[in-house]
Amino acid sequence: MTKKLAGLQPEVVFGYFEEISKIPHGSWNCGPISQYLVDFAKAHGLRWIRDDAKNVIIFKDGSAGYEDHEPVILQGHMDMVCQKDEGCHINFDTDPLDIDYEEDLIFANGTTLGADDGIAMALFLAVLADDSIAHPPLEVVFTADEEVGLIGANAIDLSMLKGRKMLNVDTFREGTFTAGSAGGAYVTVDMAVERRAYTGRRLQLRIDGLRGGHSAGVVQFNYGNAAKAMGELLGSIGGVQLIELSGGTAGNAVPRTCQAVLVAETLDMSQVETACKELCRKLQEENGEKDASVTYALLPAEQVQALTAADSKRIADLIQALPNGVQAWEPAFEGLPQTSLNLGIMELKENLNLLIYPRSSINRDRQALQDKLKVIVEGHGAVYGQYGVFSAWEYQPVSPFRDLMCDLYRKMFGQEPIVRVVHAGLEGGAFADQLPGLECISTGPQAYDVHTTRERMEIASMGRFWDYLLALLKAL
Ligand SMILES: [Zn+2]
Repeated sequence: MTKKLAGLQPEVVFGYFEEISKIPHGSWNCGPISQYLVDFAKAHGLRWIRDDAKNVIIFKDGSAGYEDHEPVILQGHMDMVCQKDEGCHINFDTDPLDIDYEEDLIFANGTTLGADDGIAMALFLAVLADDSIAHPPLEVVFTADEEVGLIGANAIDLSMLKGRKMLNVDTFREGTFTAGSAGGAYVTVDMAVERRAYTGRRLQLRIDGLRGGHSAGVVQFNYGNAAKAMGELLGSIGGVQLIELSGGTAGNAVPRTCQAVLVAETLDMSQVETACKELCRKLQEENGEKDASVTYALLPAEQVQALTAADSKRIADLIQALPNGVQAWEPAFEGLPQTSLNLGIMELKENLNLLIYPRSSINRDRQALQDKLKVIVEGHGAVYGQYGVFSAWEYQPVSPFRDLMCDLYRKMFGQEPIVRVVHAGLEGGAFADQLPGLECISTGPQAYDVHTTRERMEIASMGRFWDYLLALLKAL
C-alpha cells in the first residue's frame, strides 16, 4: 500500500500517524488500537501494562547518561471522535481513514482525522522507537475512551508511576500551555409529585431561540437558560397546575428551549401576556438573547392529569431557588470562570427530574457548591443524587517544570507561550488525583476544527513541536 504521507517531515512521526489512521480507534472501540500499542511495545522489547479499561502504559529506560534522571510521564488518549460527512461510507468500526494532505495541512476525506489524539500517539511512538534520542526514563500512558467521559483516565491505576512531571499532548494550539482544568459532577434531582384528573382549557408556554452551547465554553457569557427561565415564568404567573414540563438535552449543554403545559383555576390572560413579555425583554436585554421568544397559546379543553397546585409551586420554587451560571471567577485568569453550574435537563415524567452540572477548578469549591445544592433540593422535598464525579486539575502557582517548558519555548521560537487554565474537564485531573505533587502541562502542535469533518493538522507545526519535544526530553 502506498503511503500518503511519505516524505513529510518528521517522517517517523507521520509514518506512525498514518499507521494509526488505518486502525479503527473511535471511542468505545479501543480494542484494536490498544492491541497495536501492546504489539509495538513487544516488538521494541519495552515493558508494558494493559488494564481492563484498555489503557496501555509503556516504559522505557533513560538513555545513556540519563539512567538516573527523574522519570517523565508522556500522556495522550487513544480514542478519536468519529464524525463523517453525509454520503461518506467509511465504517469507523472496520475501515481505515482516507487521509491525505494539501499544502501544509493533513486531513481525512469525509471524516474526522483523529489528530486529536493520534498526534500524541504518533509522537510518543516515534520517541519510544528511536534509541538515538536523549531522554530520562519514560512512562508513556495511553488512555482509552477520553472523549466519552475520561473513562480510561478515571479507571487507570497509576501507582506504579514514578514520574511527577507530565507532558500531556491534547491541546492543539501551538504555543499554548494548558496548566489546569475543572472538575465536575452530574447532580440529579428527583421529586415525587401528585396528580389529579382535571378537565378544562390548557395553556402552553414556550421559550425558544436561545443560543445554548457547551456549558464549559459559554457559561461566562451569561446566556439565557430556557429551563431556568421557565421556572421564573411559572413563578410570576402563579397558581398553575403543571401537565407537561421539559427543557434541555444534556447536563453540560445550556437549554435552548423549554415547554410547559398547564391548567389554572383562574387564568388572568393579561397577566400571562405581561409575564411572557417581561421575561422575553429580560432574556434579550440581560442575557443578550436577541432571538429569544416567550410565547403562550390556549389549547382546547380536555380531560388531563395535572399536578396539584402545591406540587407545581414546589417545582417553580425549586427552579427559581437553584443557583445557575458563574459562581466565582479565576483570580489569576481574567474572564475565566472558576466555579459554575448549569441546569441542563428539566423533565416532568412520572416524577420531576433535573440534571445539573456543577464544575470548578478548585475541588473543595465544587464540593461546597454541591453541598449547597443538596440543601436547596432537599428543602424542596426532592431527592439529591450525584454520579460521574471527577477531580479538577488544580493550577499550581509554582511549577519549575512549567518554567522550564516556557523558557525552552522562548529560547527556541522567540515567542512568549500562552499559559492558561480551562473550565472544561481534562485528563490531568485524574492524574493529579493519584500522583500528589504532579506538575503537568498540556500542549501540542496546531490542529484545526477537531471533532469535526473539517479537522486538519499543520505539517510545519508538527515539525516544530517534534523539535521542541526532543529538546525538552534532553533538558529533563
Ligand atoms: Zn483529545
